[in-house]
Amino acid sequence: MPYAVTHILVPIIILDLLKKRRAWKGKISLHTIFVAGVFGLVPDLDIALEFLLYGIGNPADLHRTFTHSFSIPFVLAVIALLLWRSGRARKQAAFLGVAAFGWALHVFLDILSGGVVTPFVPFSSWGIEVGILVNEAQPLQLQTSILAALDAVVFLVWLWHEEKYKKLKDFF
Ligand SMILES: [Zn+2]
Repeated sequence: MPYAVTHILVPIIILDLLKKRRAWKGKISLHTIFVAGVFGLVPDLDIALEFLLYGIGNPADLHRTFTHSFSIPFVLAVIALLLWRSGRARKQAAFLGVAAFGWALHVFLDILSGGVVTPFVPFSSWGIEVGILVNEAQPLQLQTSILAALDAVVFLVWLWHEEKYKKLKDFF
């Protein structure tokens, strides 16, 4: 489970790179990139929901369950496609499509980095863990250090990229 900076910046970096390609020029706004970054973190709101519902030290474990399913971004993407094809509400369609992208990328990053994710809830409780970066056999302190280092590396790469192309002003 990467931390917030990675979850926010990876969709931002991907869309920013796409924005520079000829086929996507002028089609991806800063607002779109912002929405992708926000929805890259939204699935982890289950942590706040768990706290609100059950408080600290609760027996329930909502984290990485229903919000960490590809079902939600799939539904968002289908609605986006239907809205886009209808020719009406294209802005809303783009918003939902980008939200679906950010959300699905969050689930994908969690699967890759470590910890079990049930990506097809509520249709299946099948869980998957690739665990490229961390796994449950490692001490918690090592997992925390690796994920914090990932945040730092992703942030520094993004800063370097923005500085290189002198586009930092776009984000401030
Ligand atoms: Zn997560």
